[in-house]
Amino acid sequence: MEKKLPPKFNPAELARSRQKSQLELPVSHFKRFSALLANTEGSVVASAGFELNDTKQATAKGNLRTSVNVTCQRCMREMEIQLSNNFSFVFISDEEEAIDQEDDYDPVLVDDHNEIAAVDFLEDELILQLPLRLVHEDEHQCDQSVITAVKTAAQTGPAKTHNPFSDLDKLLKN
Ligand SMILES: [Zn+2]
Repeated sequence: MEKKLPPKFNPAELARSRQKSQLELPVSHFKRFSALLANTEGSVVASAGFELNDTKQATAKGNLRTSVNVTCQRCMREMEIQLSNNFSFVFISDEEEAIDQEDDYDPVLVDDHNEIAAVDFLEDELILQLPLRLVHEDEHQCDQSVITAVKTAAQTGPAKTHNPFSDLDKLLKN
């Protein structure tokens, strides 16, 4: 049975009892991640199975999913994107330990009490899942009034735009 993951937990303890855990946290709890979004609506859902590996290190395998609102960089309108990913983590207590890890496990650093906050456990993974280019997949999904305005501006260019003072200038010269 899946148990709810507490806000802070000891991965080694969970791994020793081979615990399956689930977690649901509001997006707003992930400060660095939500700073990249249009707003903090929604929640992050994750489930993970904890186990000890051959070298008695705690590991967690599972997946996370969320849907969040970001700003389209083409039309500046809000859009919803779905993120979902499988992860494999190995918990380590100092940076040095990370060097001998197998590639398919991403090292996660626990604190001096061998604990980690649930938010810290998932935040980097969430940030990595965000596409680098946040735009509507199809340009037709974009706010067309903005697209047209941008295109018109690009075609005419700032130098050719109508300047109301140019007429005034003429009048003054006459
Ligand atoms: Zn767009």
